[in-house]
Amino acid sequence: MPVSGLGPYDDQNIFARILRGEIPCRRAYEDEHALAFHDIAPQAPAHVLVIPKGAYVSFADFSATASEAEIAGFFRAVGRVARELGLEQPGYRLLANTGVHGGQEVPHFHVHLFGGAGLGPMLDHRIAQPA
Ligand code: AMP
Repeated sequence: MPVSGLGPYDDQNIFARILRGEIPCRRAYEDEHALAFHDIAPQAPAHVLVIPKGAYVSFADFSATASEAEIAGFFRAVGRVARELGLEQPGYRLLANTGVHGGQEVPHFHVHLFGGAGLGPMLDHRIAQPA
């Protein structure tokens, strides 16, 4: 099992269905290794999801089992999407929720790309407080 709580890859997950063209997305970019599309419930003025084309449950799965070409191709695509969306200046945030504690809801590895405004602190500070 790649990451606690996620299980093996489920090819009916919503991003797998988007990759197969079974449900629509607002596409921002696509190449051999990656598809980028706008999040359906944006949490910043720019909120794009970048997903690899391969069947990887999570970042843990992708980083451990994807080929060098897939990993390089994917992360180059993430950078290219940010550049093409005009986010490099004044900057943006990448986030990959992973597993249960990471709050990952869709079990196909994805990177959130947020930008278009100052994004505030990295995490909700309440989480960091000692119990
Ligand atoms: P995560 O919690 O990291 O798994 O994030 C999943 C993200 O997928 C959320 O931000 C959702 O709003 C987004 N999402 C779910 N379904 C769709 C969809 N059909 N098209 C675009 N974004 C989606």
